[in-house]
Amino acid sequence: TEACLTAIEGADALGAFVHKTPEIALEQARAADARIQEGDAPSMCGIPMGIKDLFCTKGVPSQAASGILKGFKPEYESTVTSQLFDAGAVMLGKLNMDEFAMGSSNETSVYGNAVNPWRRGNDDAALTPGGSSGGSASAVAADLCLAATGTDTGGSIRQPAAFTGITGIKPTYGRCSRWGIIAFASSLDQAGPMTKDVRDAAIVLGAMCGHDPRDSTSVDLPVPDFESMLTGDIRGKAIGIPREYRMDGMPAEIDALWDQGRDMLRDAGARIVDISLPHTKYALPTYYVIAPAEASSNLARYDGVRYGHRATLASGEGINDMYEKTRAEGFGPEVQRRVMVGTYVLSAGFYDAYYNRARKVRTLIKRDFEQAFATGVDAILTPATPSAAFGLGELQDADPVQMYLNDVFTVTVNLAGLPGISVPAGLDKQGLPLGLQLIGRPWEEGDLLNTAYALE
Ligand code: GLN
Repeated sequence: TEACLTAIEGADALGAFVHKTPEIALEQARAADARIQEGDAPSMCGIPMGIKDLFCTKGVPSQAASGILKGFKPEYESTVTSQLFDAGAVMLGKLNMDEFAMGSSNETSVYGNAVNPWRRGNDDAALTPGGSSGGSASAVAADLCLAATGTDTGGSIRQPAAFTGITGIKPTYGRCSRWGIIAFASSLDQAGPMTKDVRDAAIVLGAMCGHDPRDSTSVDLPVPDFESMLTGDIRGKAIGIPREYRMDGMPAEIDALWDQGRDMLRDAGARIVDISLPHTKYALPTYYVIAPAEASSNLARYDGVRYGHRATLASGEGINDMYEKTRAEGFGPEVQRRVMVGTYVLSAGFYDAYYNRARKVRTLIKRDFEQAFATGVDAILTPATPSAAFGLGELQDADPVQMYLNDVFTVTVNLAGLPGISVPAGLDKQGLPLGLQLIGRPWEEGDLLNTAYALE
């Protein structure tokens, strides 16, 4: 813990930690030492972690990297963080992210962007660590902590993991409790660990997940000992290669890496099968209707009355002015865009044409996966992202759709509620890390982690 706290002090330029909690960390570390001495060391005992700013941490600022939650210190602890602390984990501080987890580059944060510790060859230009869990990815990649929490609504664990050469798993929807995690799109949001390798991911995930009666979508299933399932034996497993993920214009390097991953799994004894997920091309538009719709509803609570920021009113201004001014000042441009898109697709005149249509297509996307798994496929291998990390500012000022295209391989997994993991798979010719994604059957994170372990 002390080594991490020192490293964090020297790494402000990365912008990974937005709120440091050294006193809490040292107190938790001392308690962990005492537990070890008593011979009662649970799985996370004494492990220093960073916590994404989307998790409510009791008495500690939790702002979802938004101006509207300025000054908000929750009265309660999220289920995931409280389980981690019960298992002995140590909190070093809160980690940077895109505002309300909306983004793929950590550039929508009210705190400013986080920076990727990697560079292109000898080029000094700063790169994005990805998003929305950019601070988490940057902190783990730069050894500021041993693991971090992330959340993934459309790829926010897996894309930043791929951009920074680390491992990140989004479990099956319902595996981790959403209680106390600031909501973005409730039917898609899932928490998960971001770690150095698959074994660490197995250990941290085991501590994060489990049934929680306070989240009605949390599933009451036993949590297996994921770590003990890492045998590396994948003989006889069927790995699907979805043909629709081979996209036009994808860099040849990513194609080559994907083939290399396939060959590694084949050499380890897996059977490779070509599969089709025909509705893949509708995934991005479907996601960018459903996620903003749910966000516009979830974000309605930030009205200047109950939490955080409240605008100062001029004399004669009333409560409607207060709502309007507060929201205009407190939300950044990307969040405002999502709220507008969301209210539009949910409005009486357009509900059927957009929101309801998107829900139907979501079912078709889910069915594609069910059909693939029904033919005996155990896991699906795809690239994690369509490119390596890009430069800060490169996409932020472009058409927002360019940024949304980052999610092309990851959003399908959230729409279908499946577990997905990104593992480092090699470097591109500029020396930047690239990731491969494995998608598993629902509730089979143990098997998925084991297949990923064989790719390491
Ligand atoms: N980049 C996607 C978005 O902006 C995904 C974000 C996430 O997974 N939280 O919505």
